[in-house]
Amino acid sequence: MASAPPSWNRTQEPFAELISAEAIAARVAELGKQITEDYRPLVEKADVVVIGVLKGSVIFMADLVRHVALPVKLEFIGISSYGDETVSSGVVQITQDVSKPLEGKHVIVVEDIVDTGHTVHYLMENLATRRPASIKLAALLHKPERSEREVKIDYLGFTIPNKFVVGYGLDAAQLWRNLPYIGYITNA
Ligand code: 5GP
Repeated sequence: MASAPPSWNRTQEPFAELISAEAIAARVAELGKQITEDYRPLVEKADVVVIGVLKGSVIFMADLVRHVALPVKLEFIGISSYGDETVSSGVVQITQDVSKPLEGKHVIVVEDIVDTGHTVHYLMENLATRRPASIKLAALLHKPERSEREVKIDYLGFTIPNKFVVGYGLDAAQLWRNLPYIGYITNA
């Protein structure tokens, strides 16, 4: 029997809850079901490869793929943006690449958040040059107010206001990724 995550001492957290663990779980299950339906006709003809963008997507990806009732392969890609950590410069570098070629495979990129859209735009363009059979994007969060690049999100968890969020994989200075919910910083 699975046990619930520990209750955090909310009075010590500098965050307000934006999306609860329960709401995340419900939405991730829906996305997994949709992916299962969409890829069921494809999976027998070519591999389906789910690529998690390190590190922010790890928790979302782990939950999402357990709601995909199909044989899929998992890969990870590491990227770094130049410039200030909280302001996307649009200049992105791949620091760790996937382990196998993507040619002829159905690729689903899993990202934590689409903010300005620069990171995902670069990544999708880069991966598309590797001649996958198809490529789609799953993103847990989208901040449309900050959008600078048009990005097609095929599987979106939640649209959020223009706040800096942490938890469920997202960090502030590498901390708080393990919060079971998504919060925004209130004391900054
Ligand atoms: P973009 O290139 O879309 O502006 O930025 C995407 C990346 O910026 C995300 O993958 C994430 O690493 C970071 N980012 C953007 N907004 C937030 C936020 O509200 N919280 C956290 N923790 N990271 C963010």
